[in-house]
Amino acid sequence: SKTRVYKLAQEIGISSKELMEKLEELDIHVANHMSTLDEEEAELIIELLKDEKVDDLNDKKGELAVEEDDDNIPKIEIGSKISVQNLAQLMDKTPSEVITKLIKLGIMATINQEIDYDVAELVALDFGFKTIKEEVKDETEELIKIEEDKPEDLKPRPPIVTVMGHVDHGKTSLLDAIRHSNVTAKEAGGITQHIGASEVDVDGKKIVFLDTPGHEAFTAMRARGAQVTDIAILVVAADDGIMPQTIEAINHSKAAGVPIIVAINKIDKPDANPDRVKQELAEQGLLVEDWGGDVISVPVSALKKQNIDTLLEMILLVAEMEELKANPDKKAVGTVIEAQLDKGRGPVATVLVQNGTLRVGDAIVAGSVCGKVRAMINDKGKRIKEAGPSIPVEILGLSEVPQPGDQFVVVGSDKIARSISEKRKEKLREEQLKATQKVSLDDLFKQMEQGEIKELNIIVKADVQGSVQAVKQSLEKLSNEEVSVKVIHGGVGAITESDVMLASASNAIIIGFNVRPVAGASSLAETEKVDMRTYRIIYNAIEDIQAAMKGMLDPEF
Ligand code: GDP
Repeated sequence: SKTRVYKLAQEIGISSKELMEKLEELDIHVANHMSTLDEEEAELIIELLKDEKVDDLNDKKGELAVEEDDDNIPKIEIGSKISVQNLAQLMDKTPSEVITKLIKLGIMATINQEIDYDVAELVALDFGFKTIKEEVKDETEELIKIEEDKPEDLKPRPPIVTVMGHVDHGKTSLLDAIRHSNVTAKEAGGITQHIGASEVDVDGKKIVFLDTPGHEAFTAMRARGAQVTDIAILVVAADDGIMPQTIEAINHSKAAGVPIIVAINKIDKPDANPDRVKQELAEQGLLVEDWGGDVISVPVSALKKQNIDTLLEMILLVAEMEELKANPDKKAVGTVIEAQLDKGRGPVATVLVQNGTLRVGDAIVAGSVCGKVRAMINDKGKRIKEAGPSIPVEILGLSEVPQPGDQFVVVGSDKIARSISEKRKEKLREEQLKATQKVSLDDLFKQMEQGEIKELNIIVKADVQGSVQAVKQSLEKLSNEEVSVKVIHGGVGAITESDVMLASASNAIIIGFNVRPVAGASSLAETEKVDMRTYRIIYNAIEDIQAAMKGMLDPEF
């Protein structure tokens, strides 16, 4: 089962030297072309090389290089460091010629010494070559590039649902009612396992509910780049109507492009007024079906467990229209929805498989954490061996605790998982140093010019509803050919942490009128790099944004 480097190279059809370079990238160190490799190492390298995407990328790079060559200056491509010998070779010079140039630059170097890109650039220029900095291609990331699915491989998958709405309107009760509607007599006495999401069976079809209700959790995930929700259930109490958090929930769902089903709750109450709810929904741009719109609404009572089955049917109906599909026949990818350190079991994470099938024994990377799936437990507390698309499972076997919202992927081997995890940790450290800047009025114009921004998303908070409307209208009128201005959320009251997370998730700026941020919102805006500004006069805000769009905003002091 062992093979020699040169033999394997022959098999693959590359030179031993190329193969040794690839091995080096995979952290497999060999002395020379006669060294032996074990089976796992050989497989690893074959997998790396087989990856067509790598080849495609190389081809593309080659094409680009050719195209760029139309002016007469010869170009060479070098990385962040290059040895004297290699640099000489690239320019068809002898190493001693290069060394002589280096000495002229005041640098004493030997033939095998590595010199920095900047130095190499100077030397090359002296020889009449232009240098192009080689993009450092991250082979490990290439290894986990997710292949596109062929249409025929896609199978319907269960919808993943989040329940949202104003506090006390019955989100938790509704989730309980739904879970109860589904517990068979046998299970009823048993423990209800909380893993962060639950599967519900409706006439043989599954629906998956995220256990943490509310738009805060939903948007916090989105701010981390994860979108797991397919359908939002908006709970509105029929005796209370649309409230500020209802509007937030609507806008957070809209910003994410997630369809909404309205559950008009508490219809058992004597003062329930579903029609008023529908009217208020219409005012928010949600036209329900019996008002001529296409938003599905279902009157329910979470307390009395009335009409829960209809709500579930409607969820399946919307899911069908959304044509939710995934390919169960490949390695799993998905999102971490909860994670903690368990005293007895070590790091435990609940993940939602979004594509492919996750199996016990799989090597996995979750965010910057790696591991091997030692065991999987479903929401009923049962140990399972595999989990397909949309299925939430708790997994054991990770090396550390990942972050909710982290993507996970299954990779070919533990070794690959470890190497990706290392690379990502390094990258994370770098990124933390230069936290990604979101849109800000100060550099809006620059971002527009570079074509990075086509839409300026704004969140407006004000002390009175009148101001919210006035500002929304004036701001949206500023839209021009380069950038369209869009108020994705407006509301009365202080700027909250939830506003900041929505801004972060939707790359928006926040504008407040005669309102201040609540404690915590300012520091969150700082860490999330969200541009938040407060004004006393509407005109000043409009003026600022107008100026920013022209690149003429005075810097803030
Ligand atoms: P959440 O804050 O949105 O999660 O709301 P809860 O589920 O905690 O419910 C808030 C209150 O409303 C609780 O006292 C529930 O018992 C009550 N409640 C929830 N659903 C109904 C309902 O359908 N009818 C009635 N009468 N009360 C309800």
